[in-house]
Amino acid sequence: MASASDFIRAIINDDLKRGKVSRIAVRFPPEPNGYLHIGHAKSSTLNFGLAAEYGGQCHLRFDDTNPATEDQKYVDAIKRDLRWLGFDWGENEFYASDYFEQLYDWACKLIQLGLAYVDDSSEETIRALRGTVTQPGSESPFRKRSPEESLALFAQMRAGAFDDGTRVLRAKIDMAHPNMKMRDPLMYRIRHAHHYRRGNTWCIYPFYDWAHGQSDAIEKITHSICTLEFMANRVLYDWYLDALGINPRPYQYEFARLNMDYTVTSKRKLLQLVRDGYVDSWSDPRMPTLAGLRRRGVTPNAIRTFCTCIGTTKVDSTYHPGQLEHAIRQDLNDKAKRVMCVLDPLPVTIMNWRDGLVEELEAPYWPHDIPREGTRPVPLSGELLIEQDDFAEEPPKGFRRLIPGGSVRLRHAYVIRCDRVEKDRAGRPVRLYCTVFKDSASTTAKNPTPKARSTIHWVDARRSIPVTVRLYDHLFNAAAPGEDFLSDLNADSLVVYEHARIEPSVLEDDPEERYQFTRLGYFWRDPEHAHEAVAAFNCIVSLRDSWSRTKVAKTVPEKPQPHIHIPDAPSVKPEARAWLARAGIPPAVGIPIYSTEGGPVFFAGASALVDRALVATWMANHLLPALNGRFLSDLPFTAVEFAQLVALVNTQHATTHEAREVLATMLKKGGNPETLLERLRASRVSDERTLVTLVEEVLTTYADRVQAYHRGKTGLAGFFVGQVMQKTRGKASPHQVQALVHAALTRLAK
Ligand code: ATP
Ligand code: MG
Repeated sequence: MASASDFIRAIINDDLKRGKVSRIAVRFPPEPNGYLHIGHAKSSTLNFGLAAEYGGQCHLRFDDTNPATEDQKYVDAIKRDLRWLGFDWGENEFYASDYFEQLYDWACKLIQLGLAYVDDSSEETIRALRGTVTQPGSESPFRKRSPEESLALFAQMRAGAFDDGTRVLRAKIDMAHPNMKMRDPLMYRIRHAHHYRRGNTWCIYPFYDWAHGQSDAIEKITHSICTLEFMANRVLYDWYLDALGINPRPYQYEFARLNMDYTVTSKRKLLQLVRDGYVDSWSDPRMPTLAGLRRRGVTPNAIRTFCTCIGTTKVDSTYHPGQLEHAIRQDLNDKAKRVMCVLDPLPVTIMNWRDGLVEELEAPYWPHDIPREGTRPVPLSGELLIEQDDFAEEPPKGFRRLIPGGSVRLRHAYVIRCDRVEKDRAGRPVRLYCTVFKDSASTTAKNPTPKARSTIHWVDARRSIPVTVRLYDHLFNAAAPGEDFLSDLNADSLVVYEHARIEPSVLEDDPEERYQFTRLGYFWRDPEHAHEAVAAFNCIVSLRDSWSRTKVAKTVPEKPQPHIHIPDAPSVKPEARAWLARAGIPPAVGIPIYSTEGGPVFFAGASALVDRALVATWMANHLLPALNGRFLSDLPFTAVEFAQLVALVNTQHATTHEAREVLATMLKKGGNPETLLERLRASRVSDERTLVTLVEEVLTTYADRVQAYHRGKTGLAGFFVGQVMQKTRGKASPHQVQALVHAALTRLAK
């Protein structure tokens, strides 16, 4: 017998020991009204896991009692996703809609026993008579109806004699029961509707509470495991089974559902995102659906590990996406070949390269700490591409990559020094001219190999392959998107690099190969772009320790790590190293803070009050770059006020966007962040009708661009939002405008 790692297993062990049950049968009961999401992964991992551990069975039961929302396409998708997760239900595939006849017979039995009756009241009246938590309900005038009369009416209900909503069947329990679920709950309603499996055979449909326990009983389920919100329904679950005298009977146990920050898991909301085009489908890689995670490149193993690690408890918990990301990295670390890809290329010409020479470097696929063999040839010539981000003409403090006159090492290759920068008219660098230092033989005491500030990735300009790279961020800006979740959509949740270039070795691989792109993250080819001439790679997950260094790394800062990896580069001075370790923040944000005058003191003052990781991120990314030569000690606000600002973000009181606006004001003239936030909000044009009018104005003015948008130039959405924002002189919430623009464009498409 498995040792009890959670309360459900403890109950099962006990039931087996006492002989209450001799076998274990559980079920996973999705309603086919949407795709499965990460929460369902938790429930199915638990149920299929129990069946495997105890040598029992886990049934797949489609809980399909509501004709309005269910569909065969969801049945198919659910089965596909469960198989992908690795679960096998064998013959045990069931449908609650197959039990309609049996449920009907049982309902008739309850009527005969005087335990159910047909009520002619409208659903509103019934609701009004239910009472409240503190006040008992009142009995319906139809409650005293004879069983014969109810039986006859119920038969007529089934036969289609009545209109929708004119009558219901109710259990006769107790209108004064302290648990409101027990106040004569509804069992059947009339719905003249087509059911995706039963067609028009039925026009009465059972309610969940009536169908669910009886379905469990029909399948001889021993342990019926559901989420906590069904706790209050358990008394009713038991009441029906007792009233019918079913034996042996199932028992219900509740566990905490999985919630995740920056995500919605309500199927209703997910459906809305798909239906209204906020994402491209149920399998959009930003969706928390299993289909979305699969398309993104996440492995089933990572999902199962995550679900097992978070365990089964009775305490409602919300997980940070970082916890799932951690499981994904762990899973991919020793599976993913390391290759180089440049997202946003900047051409480099090596001036001292011999004309026509192409070197084939032999580069290992794996770092030393992974005991795997294998190398690939990497071509190198005098024309290369490096990441735009890896070069800075005017480097911010702490920048350790290529600068004019500075040197870096090309990964798996040589040190280069930047001698000249060619710029376009706007002053942006378009090409670097560098000197390569190939080996010690070519360098002399007079002309030694310069010290590399860091190692960067690169590809050969001619021999690399053009690809598109898709980076994903959270779909929502708010940790807990509310009812108004559309206004929390993150406008930057998808960033596409159209001109990325990858090393040619990947051409040899299986299309399903997963890679680590050096310094960026884990990637694979997007299966839904497989037929296109240019492959599209999805970022499965970024590398944690690159989070503020590259664009991939837009993940939310995780809780401070007890072990911070501090690069073993000579550029990090021992004092800096010691300070980073003490402060407990990663070098990417820590080094700029450390190297700013007064930075450590300011950081200490602010981080005493709020999450240090977030303080560090805000200092490094928003405050320090805005100093423009000023000293921290000259600012019109203190570290404490800065901490208050960060706290507003931390507690979700302000969006990142708002906080940045508040910070801009604070930098100009100081002030209390909370007051400034209120003022900012008050000054906004939030009246939806005004905004809708402005949106319409913009879309009419740019009718030609609207057409282009509908022909596929979806990037124009940002342009429209910008135009509306301009009309409000920046005084509207960009999220709200974005949602309204989107809604208007969707309407126009129809
Ligand atoms: P919604 O209420 O959004 O429609 P649901 O929970 O009703 O979702 P079902 O298809 O009925 O969706 O769920 C099937 C099973 O998965 C149920 O046993 C349910 O308890 C479980 N489940 C659903 N969401 C979660 C979650 N977030 N965490 C854990 N289990 C979940
Ligand atoms: Mg449900």
